[in-house]
Amino acid sequence: MAEKRTEIRELGEFGLIEKIKSRVKLHHPRSIYGIGDDAAVIDDGEEVILLTSDMLNESVHFDLSYTPLIHLGYKAVAVNVSDIVAMNGIPGQITVSLGLSNRFSVEAIEELYQGIQLACANYKIDLIGGDTTSSRAGLIISISALGFAKKTEVCYRHTAKVNDLLCVTGDLGGAYLGLQLLEREKQVYLSNPAMQPELEGKDYVVQRQLKPEARMDVIYELRELGIVPTAMIDISDGLASEVLHLCKSSGLGAVIMEDKLPIDEQTYATALEFNLEPLTCILNGGEDYELLFTIKQEDLNKLKNHPDITVIGLMKEASAGVNVVTKAGNSFPLKAQGWVHF
Ligand code: ADP
Ligand code: MG
Repeated sequence: MAEKRTEIRELGEFGLIEKIKSRVKLHHPRSIYGIGDDAAVIDDGEEVILLTSDMLNESVHFDLSYTPLIHLGYKAVAVNVSDIVAMNGIPGQITVSLGLSNRFSVEAIEELYQGIQLACANYKIDLIGGDTTSSRAGLIISISALGFAKKTEVCYRHTAKVNDLLCVTGDLGGAYLGLQLLEREKQVYLSNPAMQPELEGKDYVVQRQLKPEARMDVIYELRELGIVPTAMIDISDGLASEVLHLCKSSGLGAVIMEDKLPIDEQTYATALEFNLEPLTCILNGGEDYELLFTIKQEDLNKLKNHPDITVIGLMKEASAGVNVVTKAGNSFPLKAQGWVHF
């Protein structure tokens, strides 16, 4: 009899990770938390060490026809820093591993490293090693980041409580619309190379796609305000996906208010231009790298005047489900589209 073959797409990315997780046992006494959060947590006395890695693959995660290598280098570091920040940690060091083909010149790699080093300088972290191999499938950039936090300050995904307030930083959907715009201009260029790209007045959404920032500033501000979130995750795959992760990990439900969801004017206008529902872009557009976190209600006073943090909803019992209340007062269950890689 033929052996059973399960396609990866049947499980999806998260199903596959769940399966791997269910088979993994931790052996070392200092491994506090392994698979299942933005970064792994390793015991270091009063402190913990945080470790995360993220890989960017050409033509899956980036398109070099409109992504300058300097921005790509910056982004590859920023997305790793974002995962350390999502644990309420301060990043310290990174390693950078590259898969390269002969399509790339030394000058091209130097440009990539300019971006990497710019990010290192901005986030005050050090590049301390890596690996270099050849690749037949385009450019591969794999970065690992180390970070640090006090044991009492680490924020997991699984520790939100009923009635905690759900908060997000910044605004959402911009990076996705930046991508739509860059893809459209690429198609226009391919059909007529004499055409100039039409990106005027779109600087914000383009920058959100090409040069995202990890919200390290917010981590320092929360410390100054004396707030330790009860749970936190960064928004890499879209708000819907991350809210569902937080709820599932914490064994809870939630309600989100559409009228509270933060969107930039340019993002909103660009969504309409593309005949896209702004709400869909907020919920399912990825790569904003903002933070989603929960706080105790009594902490609301401390951050209610913060210009860049918005309360968008409330944690509920699991039996309530995870729902969005629209501006019209209707309610619908939140679904994640996320990114389909397989
Ligand atoms: P994020 O979007 O925050 O980077 P992911 O969804 O990529 O997180 O990963 C979720 C969790 O699964 C993390 O703990 C990550 O380390 C783990 N993980 C992802 N891929 C693998 C893998 N191939 N083997 C083991 N653990 C993995
Ligand atoms: Mg993450």
